[in-house]
Amino acid sequence: MRRLKVLACWLVFTSIASIASIAARSQSRPASGAVLYEGARVIIGDGSAPVEDGAFVVQNGRISAVGRKGAVTAPAGSARVDLTGKTVMPAMVNVHVHIGYEGYTSWGAENHTPQNVLDHLQREAFYGVGATQSVGSSPTDQMIQFQKDQQAGKFSPAARLFFMPGMAPPGGGPDAVLRVATTALRSVKIWVDDRRGTYPKMTPEVYDAVIDEAHKHRMLVNAHATTLPDQKAVVRAGADVLVHMVQGEKLDDEYLALLKEKKPYWATVIGLGDRPGVCENDPFFEEALPAKVVSTIRATVEARPLSPSCGPPSPNAPRREEILAYNFPRMISSGARLVLGTDTGIHSGHTFGTGDHHELARWVQLGLSPADAIVAATSRPAGLLGITDMGALAVGKSADFVVLNANPLENIRNTRKIASVYLRGTKLDRDAMLARWKQAGASQ
Ligand SMILES: [Zn+2]
Repeated sequence: MRRLKVLACWLVFTSIASIASIAARSQSRPASGAVLYEGARVIIGDGSAPVEDGAFVVQNGRISAVGRKGAVTAPAGSARVDLTGKTVMPAMVNVHVHIGYEGYTSWGAENHTPQNVLDHLQREAFYGVGATQSVGSSPTDQMIQFQKDQQAGKFSPAARLFFMPGMAPPGGGPDAVLRVATTALRSVKIWVDDRRGTYPKMTPEVYDAVIDEAHKHRMLVNAHATTLPDQKAVVRAGADVLVHMVQGEKLDDEYLALLKEKKPYWATVIGLGDRPGVCENDPFFEEALPAKVVSTIRATVEARPLSPSCGPPSPNAPRREEILAYNFPRMISSGARLVLGTDTGIHSGHTFGTGDHHELARWVQLGLSPADAIVAATSRPAGLLGITDMGALAVGKSADFVVLNANPLENIRNTRKIASVYLRGTKLDRDAMLARWKQAGASQ
């Protein structure tokens, strides 16, 4: 009986997967007319050395040539954009967000409208993210329709939407409020752990069956598992993507050996447990937010799980840092394939776009090179999601890129110095987006 239900849900998924792959191929109105961008340092996104004094040509929304300035030829009549002194990197890809719930005056399933989904995707795009995947928390039918409409070019430029439904034991899994909007028993995300004793655990016989059926249908399984025994068990069972760090304990040799053998993708979601950027009075974190949201976070001083606050660090913060510093490099050196995932949107105040940059900076702080951090935010997550035309600045790829005023290979925090963002060769009107958000914030 259980097997039949699981099988039925995979039949639904097969059709979702094919729609998702169409989404990967095409989305919105291409920009026409060739443009030569020259003079910038070009970070390809695949880990190769940057092209200093580089150039690239964009035609019909795609990159048609890339190389050194002077060695790249553009069609006669091409427009020219001088990017001397700038650095260009591919738009980022975030594999783990929760789209649709944040309403800035409220948070919940009632906010999950196509307009609000688009708003969140625009907020990601504003900060240089070209695609996001909402994980396990979105209503399936609405999301399929949204993807179709986005592919058909019905929306203004925004990050491309990907999503996956989720699977959990009866009464388990996502928070009650997320369950309001999701359809039961349709998933490739599994919530394995008991969320600090507040939800039932998923048993091995269930996740073994889920992973088995998913793989028969060539689908990936994302596993939410935050204890060492649970991560070991799901990696051993063949989970493809781990979400979260192991919390509260150091990794052991048995697990590291397992990682070497299985090499799962891994979305760290470190920022979710960090002090929010808006506590630092840094305009980067607050410029797109309603003032009221910023002041609410700043006025919140008591520590509650998931709730952003600017209070004193929690007593277990030093222990958390110690375990992060121990586990992070060992995960990487054992073969876990790091990808950008932030959990943005899971709770009010964990806001879209800025969390991506925060996560990159945390990785580098924990010992990753900036070049590797950029790979983990661009080409690798694009590969994970099967987005064949994103994640690198290379011939044939969609012209989705970020122009920076400083070099992130020297200091990863320079990803925040955004001069402009292009999606499908079209420059976002970031000033207009910001003006709209400010106006909306002022009327609250
Ligand atoms: Zn999540």
